[in-house]
Amino acid sequence: MPVEAYIFFSHVHWDHIHGFPFFAPAFTAGNCFHLYGGNDVTHTIEGALAGQMENPNFPVHLSDMAAHMDFHDLKDGQVVTIGEGVDRVDITNTRGNHPNGVFAYRLDYNGRSAVYCTDTEHYNVVDIRLARLAKDADLLIYDAMYLPEEYSGESGGCPKTGWGHSTYEQGVKLAREANAKQLVLFHHDPSHTDAIVAEMERRSQAIFPNSIAAREGLVITI
Ligand SMILES: [Zn+2]
Ligand SMILES: [Zn+2]
Repeated sequence: MPVEAYIFFSHVHWDHIHGFPFFAPAFTAGNCFHLYGGNDVTHTIEGALAGQMENPNFPVHLSDMAAHMDFHDLKDGQVVTIGEGVDRVDITNTRGNHPNGVFAYRLDYNGRSAVYCTDTEHYNVVDIRLARLAKDADLLIYDAMYLPEEYSGESGGCPKTGWGHSTYEQGVKLAREANAKQLVLFHHDPSHTDAIVAEMERRSQAIFPNSIAAREGLVITI
């Protein structure tokens, strides 16, 4: 049975796109993908996905993938509606704070909402755009890459200011400000062990009980 699917890219840094050349359903004729994204620089979503597959980086070009693909470059604040009636999903975006730009997304479906907000760095005050996007959301997935002491540099190493990532503490602040019901800590630092992720989750739950660290295979029903 052919697949028709919608894929929203937050941005096109490699850690978010380099699985795409190996995405088997995109090699199957008859499948159809609607791809949304873009950033604030010069590349379209299509150009960025194609760029990483150019000779000699990959043997197959994006345009050789057999599935049908539609590319959509998003505008700030644009709402994309998929389906109708009881199947209707509204996807709203806003900009986060990340080198080369990033989109955060909110999905509204049947009175429930989930916000995907990663690869964003907090300011001294809660980011008003993100607070608006996450208003009363059932689920807030947030960038908690660094522990606060790593972000500040107090635990050794250089401060991570300007690197475009955040902490669980800032996720809790955003969740409170937005009145989001559940917080999912996401975008773990590759150097973090499971024990560090568990510690981060413990600390987050101490100040926002309905927190959980994202892990492989995690499914949350809202
Ligand atoms: Zn990034
Ligand atoms: Zn990333």
